[in-house]
Amino acid sequence: MLSGGVGGARFLRGLREHVRSNLPGSQINAIVNTGDDMWLTGLRIAPDLDSIMYTLAGENDETRGWGRVGETERVSGELRAYGVGWPWFTLGDLDIGTHITRSHLLREGQPLSAVTDHITARWDLGVRLVPATDQEVETHVLVEGGELHFQEWWTRHRASLPALGFVQRGVETATPAPGVLEAIAEADVVLVAPSNPVVSIGTILGIPGIRAALAATSARVVGVSPIIAGSVVRGMADACLAAIGVETSAEAVALHYGARSAGGLLDAWLVDNADAAALPTIEAAGITACAVPLWMRDPGTSARLAADALAV
Ligand code: GDP
Ligand code: CA
Repeated sequence: MLSGGVGGARFLRGLREHVRSNLPGSQINAIVNTGDDMWLTGLRIAPDLDSIMYTLAGENDETRGWGRVGETERVSGELRAYGVGWPWFTLGDLDIGTHITRSHLLREGQPLSAVTDHITARWDLGVRLVPATDQEVETHVLVEGGELHFQEWWTRHRASLPALGFVQRGVETATPAPGVLEAIAEADVVLVAPSNPVVSIGTILGIPGIRAALAATSARVVGVSPIIAGSVVRGMADACLAAIGVETSAEAVALHYGARSAGGLLDAWLVDNADAAALPTIEAAGITACAVPLWMRDPGTSARLAADALAV
């Protein structure tokens, strides 16, 4: 599965449940966006990898939707008192433990993929998490008069500063992390999570070599729409789509990804029942389309969605 943070984590949790009950012995590899990663107060933060890890470990804060359950913020208070870091970006104390561990192992010289293996080994995830790349390729947002790290645009400005575009700083020389191309080549099926098409899935596809591997694999590539009835369900992904001139609709995202038979990404695309009227347009573009319930309200509905994705 190609995955961003929260939407990807929910879908992975459902896929894991479906696979445990129906396809024992199968391995799930998640190729995870690292474009949101950054150094802050000396620590390497990897929001999407951690959202997935905490969700699959049952450690995420379900009420807030992100971070660790039972979290405290004493360290962030100290950092604020010293005037370092971003006052609008709070890191929980337990979460900081993860970041210290990651930063320590990176500074020992290990690549992010090996560090991620180390960190995730603590939990019984049932999914192997592989960063899309080991290099530091960070998403920046072009705005009037300059550019910002994606995280500043997203969290501080709540995606409200008009974005003129997105760039992946350093992408030209990046390579897929060990395991990424192998997972795609050897997959029985490649799933594209209902994640942000621009700054989650788009950044993964931007790493040189990944698109070619997806074009070449014998597996079918099946995507799930992150858009239901013209709305992004959770978050502000519509601001990202608007910035690249793609309408916030299930069919527009499908056409943006494109049919694999025409040089694009997808063999098949799942839309919500509310978007069933879009099926002919998607099929006409050469993408098998199917309407099912896409709201992941709990692990059960996510597992049913995973079953539907594998069925198509
Ligand atoms: P992020 O990295 O935390 O922003 O998370 P992702 O990139 O993985 O996914 C964010 C997107 O997931 C949101 O923009 C929504 O469009 C989508 N999403 C969230 N919840 C649901 C859901 O229940 N169903 C579907 N189909 N999409 C969802
Ligand atoms: Ca993210």
